[in-house]
Amino acid sequence: ANTPLAMTPNDPGWDTDLVGTAPGPRMNATFVTLARNSDVWDIARSIRQVEDRFNKRYNYDWVFLNNEPFDDTFKTVTTSLVSGKTHYGEIAKEHWSFPEWIDQDKAKKVREDMAERKIIYGDSVSYRHMCRFESGFFFRQPLMMNYEYYWRVEPSIELFCDLHYDPFRVMHEGGKKYSFVLSLYEYAETIKTLWDSTKKFMKNHPEHIAENNSLGFISDDGGETYNNCHFWSNFEVGSLNWLRSKAYIDFFESLDQDGGFFYERWGDAPVHSIAAGLMLNKSEIHFFNDIAYYHVPFTHCPTGEETRTRLRCHCNPKENFDWKGYSCTSKFFDVNGMTKPEGWENQKD
Ligand code: GDP
Ligand code: MN
Repeated sequence: ANTPLAMTPNDPGWDTDLVGTAPGPRMNATFVTLARNSDVWDIARSIRQVEDRFNKRYNYDWVFLNNEPFDDTFKTVTTSLVSGKTHYGEIAKEHWSFPEWIDQDKAKKVREDMAERKIIYGDSVSYRHMCRFESGFFFRQPLMMNYEYYWRVEPSIELFCDLHYDPFRVMHEGGKKYSFVLSLYEYAETIKTLWDSTKKFMKNHPEHIAENNSLGFISDDGGETYNNCHFWSNFEVGSLNWLRSKAYIDFFESLDQDGGFFYERWGDAPVHSIAAGLMLNKSEIHFFNDIAYYHVPFTHCPTGEETRTRLRCHCNPKENFDWKGYSCTSKFFDVNGMTKPEGWENQKD
């Protein structure tokens, strides 16, 4: 008969690859991305992979946040790629600026000194605003207030395996508040006094410290010093209600008062990780082995050939960072008394 060569948008079946077919309930959850307009093509690649590997069957929303207004190109490109609803928010000035108690001269000297010592992002003001925003404000943006769970996605990431379950449901039904796929040691020069500030907080707020916490993951000497282990926060699936809790807000505000986001270069990864390590129960932190992930320069590729074949993974298992010396994931397994997956010893180096 008269079948056209190509479909057009009004034909039935045009968008079948973007119709949520996964059975089961949907959670009150969203993807969230902080980005600049100039990140559009790098975030486009990330979205495409998240959609292909997961969200085309689930159709979760996506919130984009920026310290400047998003332009039309950014909005058009991202909306065309996301199968759920998209929302675009501009960050309020107070959430992306120096608090009034910060000594500008002192902060400037730190940046000049770090630039000389070639510390990555050491000279950057915007990177510091970004880390402070991700530590203390993204979860209470007006657009985020409608949701209970988030999945953070950055530009230029890769997802290597199909994801055949809903990680938001894993969080919800398992009573999880924070999760990760990669962990490693932080660059000590950027967080010299973060643990001193943390100890001060612990002393002032013993009521916020969980009884069955993961102190053993972040300290090797019972809390005297920080061992620099942190969950890599460019990937996170977590509970927004936890981040909005009095415990977490008290922690953030205490750190913010101490000024280390500007007098040093505290990252949101150690901040979130220390908070999770001290204020959550062990059972509330989850490791997603099935979510195969890359953000320069590290890869999480699931251990176990059967898993990788079943999930149609395209990562090289040799690149899996989990069991290498600079990863903290082995420590996480030990602290939690978890059994490491078969074959982990072969991936140590
Ligand atoms: P890295 O992963 O630590 O190297 O840092 P990135 O450059 O990837 O920044 C982390 C996240 O913050 C990414 O999602 C970036 O798009 C975003 N980001 C970084 N700096 C800015 C900025 O100045 N403005 C906005 N809107 N987003 C930023
Ligand atoms: Mn990044």
